[in-house]
Amino acid sequence: MTDFDVVVVGAGVTGLTVANRLHAAGRSVLVLEARDRVGGRLLTEDVEGVRLEVGGQWVSPDQTALLALIDELQLEMYSRYRAGDSVYIGRDGVRRTFEGEKFPVSESTAAEVERLVKELDRLAALMDPLSPWEHPDAEELDRISFAAWLAEQTDDPEARDNVGLYVGPAMLTKPAHSFSALSAVLMAASAGGFSHLVDADFILDRRVVGGLQRVPLALASRLPEGTVRLDEAVTKIEWTDGGATVFTGQGSYHGRNVVLAVPPTLVSRVQYIPALPPVQAQMRQHISFGLVIKLHITYETPFWRELGLSGTAFSPYSLVHEAYDNTNEDVEGETRGTLVGFVSDVKADGLLSLTPEERRAKVLESLAAYYGEQALTPVHYYESPWMADEWTVGAFGTSFDIGSLTRYGRHLRSDVGPLAFASSDIAGLGFQHVDGAIRMGEAVAARILI
Ligand code: FAD
Repeated sequence: MTDFDVVVVGAGVTGLTVANRLHAAGRSVLVLEARDRVGGRLLTEDVEGVRLEVGGQWVSPDQTALLALIDELQLEMYSRYRAGDSVYIGRDGVRRTFEGEKFPVSESTAAEVERLVKELDRLAALMDPLSPWEHPDAEELDRISFAAWLAEQTDDPEARDNVGLYVGPAMLTKPAHSFSALSAVLMAASAGGFSHLVDADFILDRRVVGGLQRVPLALASRLPEGTVRLDEAVTKIEWTDGGATVFTGQGSYHGRNVVLAVPPTLVSRVQYIPALPPVQAQMRQHISFGLVIKLHITYETPFWRELGLSGTAFSPYSLVHEAYDNTNEDVEGETRGTLVGFVSDVKADGLLSLTPEERRAKVLESLAAYYGEQALTPVHYYESPWMADEWTVGAFGTSFDIGSLTRYGRHLRSDVGPLAFASSDIAGLGFQHVDGAIRMGEAVAARILI
């Protein structure tokens, strides 16, 4: 058995941030990673000749911790292609093009959307995203589903569907009837306000040259050789107040502190001796991953640009509820065009029940409704496989079921003896985003260094 000051479980951005900060402060650190690579939910991969952002990719202006790290690592960024009109398919099934962030809906629906966004902005402004349970309306908002809250606010179904889209399919990737209004407000507060979620140009602003996985790769490369051990899934942790022994299939390692830098759902997969206190075990049974299929569709050319389209498309009523131009502007000589699209929650359930050929046909049909017949003939098609990946099992992140944020939220970041917990899923600012992973990693490292 080998002794370290700190053993970190998980080499995603959270774990690697913890390891970097502790190493810089002179502590001996070991990082154990189940996969054969670092980066967790960030994976930039060449798939049959096309470089794809299989996991997270966008950086928005509110992600100040990520922006600072990108700067520290001397990585460059570029803007998403966004010239031209966007497309919206409404409740009436009609396809309309539009400019800016406001969907082309009737005047009365637009006014309702604006009113709801204002109200959600107001509620978000009253929330510290690190402690949503302290919101003045916390109990009330956590007891009601976001769908029911929207129904209380307006009779306009298209306004409800549009506002629901920003948090349900697009962010928490769960149906709006399955999470609380408080969780919706948390999503907004963690991004600096609901208006930011509505503005695709804000929330999906820039990409990192070479791909976002360069962030964890660069963090790992700054650690001494041998610090990160790949293919070492942690299965058991024996702990006392003085330290913990971490077991993998290859061996055991002792740390005065152990940081579980994994999503809360995977914290529960490890065996603890003694068992974690009851509230810890209970709490994580009320947290689950959302489900979204990220689709990457590459064409001989970005044909939509010729049609005066930006590639941005939305519809709460379509299988692919949102899509964007995701062409690799940083790859020299790239003449192909790539669209990225998302199929979420119950629509993803339906899609996953089909054969791969049927899935592809349905997705292309949905894209053709936005961009025309040319969308039916891509040169490359790929579905990110996070929902079946045993070291994530879902996407984008985890969230509480109705009523549980107020019931358990305050225990999320509590240490248990020498064990600390961190991941973007339990962040305040940057919740479910890379920014939150960095913030959580830095907070845990700072606590250990006191
Ligand atoms: P993870 O990345 O999940 O890292 C946890 C690590 O722990 C993994 O490497 C895992 O293999 C390892 N692990 C788990 N269990 C064990 C064990 N028992 N033993 C050892 N190792 C273990 N965020 C953005 O900011 N912008 C985006 O555009 C964006 N888009 C996304 C798109 C998709 C498809 C997905 C899936 C996520 C996206 N995100 C985005 C979210 C972002 O990727 C995550 O919030 C962030 O990467 C999480 O980092 P983490 O270190 O907290 O967790």
